[in-house]
Amino acid sequence: MNGFDDDPYEGAMSLSARAMMAARGAPEYLDGLNPAQREAVEALNGPVLMLAGAGTGKTKALTTRIAHLIHTGAARPHEILAVTFTNKAAREMKERVGVLLGGAIEGMPWMGTFHSVCVKLLRRHAELVGLKSNFTILDTDDQVRLLKQLVIAANMDEKRWPARQLAGLIDGWKNRALTPERVTGGETAAFNNKGSELYAAYQERLRTLNAVDFGDLLLHMVTIFQKHPDVLENYQRLFRYILVDEYQDTNVAQYLWLRLLAQAHKNVCCVGDDDQSIYGWRGAEVGNILRFERDFPGAVVVRLEQNYRSTEHILAAASRLISGNSDRLGKTLWTEASGGEKVRLIGHWDGEEEARWIGEEIEAMNRGTRGLDPYRLNDVAILVRASHQMRAFEDRFLSIGLPYRVIGGPRFYERLEIRDAMAYFRLAVSPDDDLAFERIINTPRRGLGDKALQTVQRRAREGDMPLLMGAQAAVAEGLLSGKGLGQLRLLVEMIGRWHGDVLAGADHIRLAETILEESGYTTMWLNDKTPEAPGRLENLKELVKALEQFENLQGFLEHVALIMDNDSQEGDDKVSIMTLHGAKGLEFPVVFLPGWEDGLFPSQRSMDETGLKGLEEERRLGYVGITRAEEICTISFAGNRRVYGQWQSQLPSRFIDELPANHVEVLTPPGLYGGGGGGGYSASVETRATKADVYNSPGWKRLQSQGTRAGARPRGAVTLEAEVNFSIGERVFHQKFGYGEVMGVEADTLVVEFDKAGTKHVKAGFVTTDSVPF
Ligand code: ATP
Ligand code: MG
Repeated sequence: MNGFDDDPYEGAMSLSARAMMAARGAPEYLDGLNPAQREAVEALNGPVLMLAGAGTGKTKALTTRIAHLIHTGAARPHEILAVTFTNKAAREMKERVGVLLGGAIEGMPWMGTFHSVCVKLLRRHAELVGLKSNFTILDTDDQVRLLKQLVIAANMDEKRWPARQLAGLIDGWKNRALTPERVTGGETAAFNNKGSELYAAYQERLRTLNAVDFGDLLLHMVTIFQKHPDVLENYQRLFRYILVDEYQDTNVAQYLWLRLLAQAHKNVCCVGDDDQSIYGWRGAEVGNILRFERDFPGAVVVRLEQNYRSTEHILAAASRLISGNSDRLGKTLWTEASGGEKVRLIGHWDGEEEARWIGEEIEAMNRGTRGLDPYRLNDVAILVRASHQMRAFEDRFLSIGLPYRVIGGPRFYERLEIRDAMAYFRLAVSPDDDLAFERIINTPRRGLGDKALQTVQRRAREGDMPLLMGAQAAVAEGLLSGKGLGQLRLLVEMIGRWHGDVLAGADHIRLAETILEESGYTTMWLNDKTPEAPGRLENLKELVKALEQFENLQGFLEHVALIMDNDSQEGDDKVSIMTLHGAKGLEFPVVFLPGWEDGLFPSQRSMDETGLKGLEEERRLGYVGITRAEEICTISFAGNRRVYGQWQSQLPSRFIDELPANHVEVLTPPGLYGGGGGGGYSASVETRATKADVYNSPGWKRLQSQGTRAGARPRGAVTLEAEVNFSIGERVFHQKFGYGEVMGVEADTLVVEFDKAGTKHVKAGFVTTDSVPF
């Protein structure tokens, strides 16, 4: 085996295309570059580092460099290893190289994400780490299930030591390229002194199953390269040129992998921006980019300063914001695109109004207003900090028929936790919904696995009845044994009770909250220690919030069914909705940045967990967000958001105060002066005000001083005891006393040690968990 069965001509450009290019002389693609970019492109051999701010043409230079390598014959397409951040970026890059060379490039097999390249490599060399080449890749759920078995086998209390927490720990080690035997020092004490032991057992189990998790893809390849110099050498020869985009977000394992591959020929070109390092929470080490010159002495270091993407106001706002960070290299950026719109800032009454206003703005821009050419919907992006923010936009856009796509993740109603929760709601409305029953019978896990489900299905078939009735019969006839029987009885009773509530016309919001609570579904995610869990909890809260606009659960379920159905009819021109994290490297003429409120953005969780470091990473996210915009950038915030069933007043993000006033225009929130319209493109009348006008206006003060909305429920009326599970040590927020930590729980009262106000007894209904997900 050598694993080098690539056809040497695989991916080579057609001969005619090459002949055509040769005839043309100096390649045209170099013309479009500035001198610094050109240097980075033409310095073919040896290490090259391009460290430069957003929109300065790093990716463009990287792409051109690939074209140049191929054009000059320095490398054939399959000899180039090019790593980008997403598969989408890799595809785009391949297309761009094709355009630059004037002919499609067939096959660049080694252009992709770290993971996609490593899967390919590992399939070839799996046996070196005890796997077969057809190994399976586990998702997070499988991973956690496996770990749970191991935790139980180790006689540990799974409640105290949740498998998800162990999964997070192991992922962290893998990100740092630590195999079980390399976990040393204080870290061996992790997870009740069993962390590294369980990690070793887990790796062993994976091997028996012929499986890997995501972290293994890199870890195994690093291990193989380190232990098998012959294999490494072969790849060092094959990959004659290595290029990496978004280098600032590589973790230790990725860094080692790259360094091993590049150390022989050192033909490595890395591109990045320390100010855009936003994956620290996933183990990215911005130090990797800062260390480049030490790792590769004599590197050509190219600094780019001209931004080609954004207007001066947008660039100025972004530059000022990021200058608030202390831990940075610091760069100068300038643009020739003078003039244009200032960055627009607008405050809204609440999140729904924010979505409504943005929807109207987009429609107005799409029609073309104030003498501007119409923008296509494809030109517009909405970038959110947390995925639960998307729901308000999705609902609004669906109701006004504005086509949109959610990039980098499922749309709100397609998310796992939303579909689970909806399955519960469906059962409460129609207990004979068998699909819904199958979905939730063992979610959360209640010891009703496949066998129990089969028993229920069999019984239902015999009696020609829905699964729920089959379950009821199975319980009555004692067809299940032990714990399963009791659990199934409880489930059947619960569903019966909820259905009774629906029939009795009970308050549907309250009912939805009860369902999520009683079923143990919320608790399941509260106990979940993975990075995704807080986001899922936020989404569940968002789901309950969505119910407000409907009379009852039935109406809501119909609405969602229609939404899902509408989907396929839309054309290609769509607004993009994505997270700030997902927007890295992209650009749009029009960008909306909603939800700039302290706690949401910057995220409270991020600040709590890593303090100033977290705040600086949030600020970099803000920088990434603003610099995605080419022409129009609109930042907004809401005075009120509903959190845990309560209206909570929000303060504008501290980042807003860090923006340069002379590059920002404050728009009038619609309705503030009693007039219709608003301050933006959709305004029929120009009603713009200065920032001071807005903040001093009676409307704004009202917005700020009132935590409750007229007509809304008074605070505390909806969230009562036992609705929210608080755990000792949890960070919470109280409207009067601020942030604190739960020290004890007594019925509906919490004992909280507040950061500022000291220890207090407070009603649980007035306290919210303060986590904001990634
Ligand atoms: P980010 O840090 O956000 O990833 P980047 O540095 O990779 O940004 P690119 O995406 O490569 O920047 O380029 C930004 C925009 O500027 C693109 O639209 C690109 O086509 C354009 N651009 C880059 N270089 C030049 C140039 N020399 N002349 C004209 N336009 C350019
Ligand atoms: Mg880029």
